[in-house]
Amino acid sequence: MTVVPVKQLLSSSFLRGNSAIKNRISIGEYCSVANTIADVCIVGVGGLGGILAKELASAGLKVVGFERGPVPTLEDYAPRDAVKFLIRPELSDWSKHEPTTTRKKPGDKARIQYRTSPLNVLGGALLHWTGQSSRYMPGDFKLHTNEIASGNAERAKADLTGYDIIDWPLSYDDLEPYYEKFEWEFGISGTGGKNPFAGPRQRDFPVPPLRHSAKMEIFAEACRKLGYHPYDTAAGILSQAYRPPQPYDTRMPERPACVYCGHCNFYGCHVHAKSASLYTVVPVAQQTGNFALHANSKVFHLLSDDKGNATGVRYFDPAGRAHEQRARVVILSAFVFESVRLLLLSKTDHKRFAKGLANTSGYVGRNILAHGDVRAMAAFDDYIINGFIGPGSAAMRIDDFNGNNFDHTGLGFIRGGTIGTSGDGTPATRFDVLPPDVPAWGEEFKKYYTHYYTRTMDLNMQPETLPHRDNRVDLDPRQTDRWGIALPRVTFDFHQNELRLQKYMAGVGERIMKATGASKVWTEEKGRPNRWAGATRMGADPKNSVVNEFCQTHDVPNLFIVGASVFPSMAGYPPTATVAALAYRTAEFVLKQKQWFD
Ligand SMILES: Cc1cc2nc3c(=O)[nH]c(=O)nc-3n(C[C@H](O)[C@H](O)[C@H](O)COP(=O)(O)OP(=O)(O)OC[C@H]3O[C@@H](n4cnc5c(N)ncnc54)[C@H](O)[C@@H]3O)c2cc1C
Ligand code: SF4
Repeated sequence: MTVVPVKQLLSSSFLRGNSAIKNRISIGEYCSVANTIADVCIVGVGGLGGILAKELASAGLKVVGFERGPVPTLEDYAPRDAVKFLIRPELSDWSKHEPTTTRKKPGDKARIQYRTSPLNVLGGALLHWTGQSSRYMPGDFKLHTNEIASGNAERAKADLTGYDIIDWPLSYDDLEPYYEKFEWEFGISGTGGKNPFAGPRQRDFPVPPLRHSAKMEIFAEACRKLGYHPYDTAAGILSQAYRPPQPYDTRMPERPACVYCGHCNFYGCHVHAKSASLYTVVPVAQQTGNFALHANSKVFHLLSDDKGNATGVRYFDPAGRAHEQRARVVILSAFVFESVRLLLLSKTDHKRFAKGLANTSGYVGRNILAHGDVRAMAAFDDYIINGFIGPGSAAMRIDDFNGNNFDHTGLGFIRGGTIGTSGDGTPATRFDVLPPDVPAWGEEFKKYYTHYYTRTMDLNMQPETLPHRDNRVDLDPRQTDRWGIALPRVTFDFHQNELRLQKYMAGVGERIMKATGASKVWTEEKGRPNRWAGATRMGADPKNSVVNEFCQTHDVPNLFIVGASVFPSMAGYPPTATVAALAYRTAEFVLKQKQWFD
């Protein structure tokens, strides 16, 4: 390892004028440069970083992974501490040091927001995800073709002013083998062929669906009554003990089945039935001997040379000292906000990257997306639902109102979302399932809650959000993290298409709930942002996108971005199956570039 005097580092082009980082580095005693050049450097060893590490290190590449969070133990993630994990994430070390700021529109004051995605820990947010594991539908990859070019938006009388819609540069068929790989390596429970709107699959799920809860049965019965098509949600939770068979990766450890403890969503799993990178792909990567993990090590800058190639990263070690790691390939898998932040922080003196690395298009940070979840809720006098039983992703769903599976003529919006029995039902997560005429505190609240806690159920709708020009991530000009580095600032609001769609979806939910025979039904029709995506989108045209179909940046051939930030549009489903499939596909593409590693 070479020790570079701090003075020399401070004179580099990046640090000129960046006094916050200058101060931070001068606190450390030296800045060192690793003499070895890694084949691949992974920034963020979370859910997807774990997949990349396994795939690349297993093929013999020398991989160095930087994870800004710690290596968690069972004792860290298994306790059911509702306050820490669910209600106040800012109490947890895994969230409190890396907030974003957020505002609805330019000109508003941005406030600090603590988030659980990314979860700053080895293995990332897949440690405590709910596990809904849906593949996108074939039509979800072709929004411009299917909605605009086809005349669908016009027939719907949708106002698409301000939106920026393109097709994905790949199709469902391109991703299908990688969806399968994810499902068989991570052990996804489900059953194929039951959802008439799903894309074709070559192979069924490796393990059968999870057991049904009362709310799943009630929902499915009501949907059938209305002529809809309920199916078991594919779940990243094992319904039976599992280890991947040949031809998948048999080095993965065998894991036991879910014990239906019910404390699932937002918690790590105490028996490892939840499909998390931490105890599936990460240990296999470590066994290869080719993967060097730096935990508690935050990357703060991406290095590039005059030819426009990525050359490595700068990071702080756990003691706060700055170092450089050189690499032949750099892969960002740091989740939406941080991937944008690092690209913007890594601008150079060269005109080409003066707006940020890989940002000649100006699209880094643009068109951030989030579902606008709405709910329909019901209270039952005749049934005990016991909604707390089982994992959050033991769920029935329908896709009759997803994508363009229904007639939009004259509705005033395009697209849709999946609808299903929602996540878990622990007391801390049910406090807000209250009819509008019941106060949220006091005697009346207690009376209602103690009687109806076991008798309520809610439906969750995940309406899509279209890419809008006003929604973006940039660097906050005022607020910094504990290192003195600008926080990512999120500017996001729902616009006309979302507001109409959310209201419509809440109405469908209400119809289904009424068909259950519930005593009381009410809805929440204004969406809450959830499941972030977009902001470094993929596309065929380098002028209006950041990466190509292999998640390779158009501008910097040896720089990749893996994660939901590459989505040009989001479907009405959660993202993980799709981002995982993209991660496997990217790893395969990198391995084919033999000329980089000779
Ligand atoms: C409560 C919850 C429930 C969810 N449920 C579902 C679900 O049901 N279905 C679904 O499809 N998806 C779900 N998700 C989303 C799912 O967790 C993500 O899709 C998945 O984790 C994405 O993987 P990732 O690697 O992109 O991000 P992460 O897993 O969050 O990993 C990013 C990693 O990068 C690290 N990092 C960031 N910046 C730096 C830096 N500068 N230097 C070093 N390291 C860095 C972070 O510490 C983190 O470990 C859920 C998420 C949450 C929070
Ligand atoms: S419900 Fe199942 S998967 Fe979820 S934490 Fe409990 S045992 Fe694990």
